[in-house]
This record gives sequence, C-alpha cells and structure tokens, in this order.
Amino acid sequence: MSTALPVGVPTQLFVDGAWTDAAGSKTFPVFDPATGDVLAEIADGGPADAVRALDAAVAAQESWAATAPRARGEILRRAFDLLQERAEEFALLMTLEMGKPLAEARGEVVYGGEFLRWFSEEAVRISGRYGLNPEGTGRMIVSQHPVGPCFFITPWNFPLAMATRKIAPALAAGCTVVVKPAELTPLTTLLFARLLEDAGLPPGVVNVVTTTRSAEVSAPVIADPRLRKLSFTGSTPVGKKLIAQAAEGVLRVSMELGGNAPFVVFDDADLDKAVDGAIAAKFRNIGQACTAANRFLVHESVAAEFARRVTERVAAMRVGAGTEEGVQIGPLIDAKAVEKTGELVQDAVGRGAQVLTGGASVERAGTFFAPTVLADVAAGSALLREEIFGPVLAIATFRDEDEAVRLANDTEYGLVSYVYTRDLARGHRMIDRLETGMMGLNAGVVSNAAAPFGGVKQSGVGREGGLEGIQEYLSTKYTLIPAD
Ligand code: NAD
Repeated sequence: MSTALPVGVPTQLFVDGAWTDAAGSKTFPVFDPATGDVLAEIADGGPADAVRALDAAVAAQESWAATAPRARGEILRRAFDLLQERAEEFALLMTLEMGKPLAEARGEVVYGGEFLRWFSEEAVRISGRYGLNPEGTGRMIVSQHPVGPCFFITPWNFPLAMATRKIAPALAAGCTVVVKPAELTPLTTLLFARLLEDAGLPPGVVNVVTTTRSAEVSAPVIADPRLRKLSFTGSTPVGKKLIAQAAEGVLRVSMELGGNAPFVVFDDADLDKAVDGAIAAKFRNIGQACTAANRFLVHESVAAEFARRVTERVAAMRVGAGTEEGVQIGPLIDAKAVEKTGELVQDAVGRGAQVLTGGASVERAGTFFAPTVLADVAAGSALLREEIFGPVLAIATFRDEDEAVRLANDTEYGLVSYVYTRDLARGHRMIDRLETGMMGLNAGVVSNAAAPFGGVKQSGVGREGGLEGIQEYLSTKYTLIPAD
C-alpha cells in the first residue's frame, strides 16, 4: 500500500514566523516505516539556519516575556482548541511518519494536547514571595522570571507529545524556543508550528529547524552565549554528550533520557490486572517508549501462569501498518531497530530463554518485528541491561521482596517502575525502596500532563508536566529593599 502525505503539511524550516528553505536549498526524505515509501522531501537545515533560528528567538525574547501571562495562556489555549479540531490530521501524520497504530496516534494527540491546556492554565500562576527578613531590617522579594531563549532536541517516538511537553511550559513561562525534531519524524513538529502560527503566536517565539546533521547543527546553538537553556529528550549516551556541551556555557539543562523499567508482579497481585497492565506497559508504541516495561520480574510461584496469560494475548495481536483497522503492532522505526531487537532476543535465547511466541522479524515490506514473549530470561542477558525498544516481553523470576527490590534497582536507569501487589503496606515499601522517578502501583501507564514526568540516575534531570514543569523555564531572583 502506498501512502500519501496529507495536504498542507509544511516541508520548510520555520524561522521568525516565515517558512523558508534551508541554506543551499538542501532537502532530505522522510519515510513511512510501514512501507518504505518516501512521504516527503523536507528542508535539511545547516548550522547557519540553526543560528538564524536562534537570532529570531533572541530577538523575540524580550517582548514575549513582557506579554501578559493571560495573553500567553490564551494563545496556548487556542492552540489546544485548534489541535482538537485537527486531531485526525495530526494522528494520521504521526502514524505515517512514525508507524504507531492510528488508535495510539489519536491517544498521543490527546496526551500531547493536554500539555497545551495544562500550561495555558499554569501561565497565570507564576508566583513569588514577599516578606520581612529575620532581622527586621529589610523586605525580601523573591520573583520568578523566564529563563530566556531555549533549545529543544526531541526524539522520534512521540513526535507530538515530546514537542508540546517542552514548548507549552516554555511559552507559558515567557521563553522563546528553537526546536530541532528527530530526522526520522520531523513532519509532526512542522505541522504543529503551523498550528501555533494559526493560534496567533508572534514571529520568532517558536522556530523549527529540521536537519539530518543533528550534532553539527546543534553545536553552534548550544555554544552560543545568548542561549539560556537546553532541553533534550532522547537516549542517555546522546544526553551525556549534550550535558558536556552545555557545561561550557553553564546552561540550565533538562534531560529526559532512557529507561529500563522493571515490572514487578508479586504473588499476591491481581493477575488479570497485572496482565492488562503488562500489555499496556510493554506494547504501547510497539515497545518504543522510554516508559516501556523492559524487565518483567515475576514471583516464581505465579510466573508460569503470568507467562501463559500474556502469551495468549500477545500471540493474538494483529501486526500491520498503523493505518489498518484493528492493528496493535505497527512497524519498528527502521531496519536498524529490527536488527537490534533480533540480536537482543538471540542473546537471551543463547543464555537459555524460552520463546513462547514471536521471536523474529516479520516477512513483509516495512520494518516489522513479531510481538514476542520470552520466559526464563537468565541474569546477564543483554536485554535486562539495555532498553529493548521493541515488542519483546522478557520474564525473569524472583523469590522474595528483597530480591525483587535488588533486581529492580540493578540498573543505571531510574525512569519508571511498575509494581503489582494487593498488599498496601508492601506497595508503600516499594515506593520508598525503588530508585525511580515515577511509579505505577497496579497501573501500566502513568503519563499525565498534570504529573511531573522524569527520571533519577542516568534517566535524566528535571521534570516535564505537573506543577514542576514550568519551573524548568523560570529562574528565581531575590531582591532586598531596606526597611527604613
Ligand atoms: P537519540 O538520542 O538517538 O535522538 C534524540 C534526538 O537527538 C534526535 O532529535 C536526534 O536527531 C538528536 N541527536 C542525536 N545525536 C545528537 C547529537 N550528537 N547532538 C545533538 N542532537 C543529537 O534518541 P531516539 O532514538 O530519537 O529516541 C529514543 C530514546 O529516547 C530512547 O533512549 C528513549 O528512552 C528516549 N526517550 C526518553 C523519554 C523521556 O521522557 N525520558 C521520552 C521519549 C524517548
């Protein structure tokens, strides 16, 4: 099946409110991973384009910061309303360029949109403090101010939500931005920039530079002394490099990095709920989520039954293009992802894991991997250490609570953990003992615009969403006024 790009999707850079070609009119193709077809040829920005975008963000910063919070909030609210009207257009575009099933793409429009609504409401709640100092000799004012021009680098797996989760709080706080979306899924960000333009956002407040040369294009922006903040969502190795670059200018950084989520099922768990949660936590986005459950740690007394029930569900999953009705498993993002998933499965099998269903790529056009369940995954298997980022549910067992905690925490990551138990006291102990930024206690999906999303350890620094999200874009100023 060949796919056509919906009409009206921009293909140029968005700089200072204008749609422009890249320097030298360079372009690159964007592919549909379900078919391998080219969806569009779009502008391939270079370093000079990125600096031009930063120029625009810097020029717009003062007036955007001086724009009334209510006015900033209302633009975000209009953007939210427009997104509801254009929901199908965005959902279809994400399915085409990223591969996720249409039903999930619609879910991402809802999730991504909520950041616009949430931060439209937060824009008017930026507050400070006023008080007498302890000595009684002075008045102290603590005020909050926009950080200044920001640079955002986003990944391909949630093309809309990873952009709105950064752009909405930045705009609410009064910051201007340059966004560099992933080269595999740049179209959604371009379509979103068009939406912001239609919502009445002034020129230069949001600029988008698409490129195939991420490192080369990002470096001069990060090194520019006019930049104040870098926010990145992506893999931990790239995040580390960017933190090092940001150190040079002592930039504020937010890093939403990789995960290796444990999904712990105790012997007292409601197994029906645990199986539902497991399917959601593993197979959403074809397993390509930072929050994807990566290691299923199941008490040895219920492991066989848990494996039987998940296998029944996984074996019945429909694989196909995300645009096809009833498909649950779309393509992986590219051929490299299929190869890596296959290698991780082979490594686990080589160490004694049993393949209960799936286990290999699917013979058809596009980049598909069969939804897979592995049981008896041995300690030392690569997929217990690395993010799988594919539709592979890997089960290992534990004997008691201490061992479950030790295994769950045995990773340099700490983004999210899932725990299934009916014992409330045990649930509370797990909240205390697991090294994690987020936790689903009898829940397989935790993301919500009203919640602080983020990790500990090498899963990152900073939080997106919730009351915390806007703080990432505000700096605190203290002023003393003598009392006499
Ligand atoms: P990636 O790190 O390869 O790329 C992310 C972005 O960084 C892309 O825009 C890419 O073009 C850019 N990039 C790559 N190298 C760069 C460099 N040297 N300089 C500047 N930019 C560079 O990650 P990915 O494959 O796009 O995304 C998957 C990863 O993202 C996974 O590890 C996943 O866990 C993580 N992720 C984390 C969160 C979170 O909130 N914690 C959310 C989604 C994805």
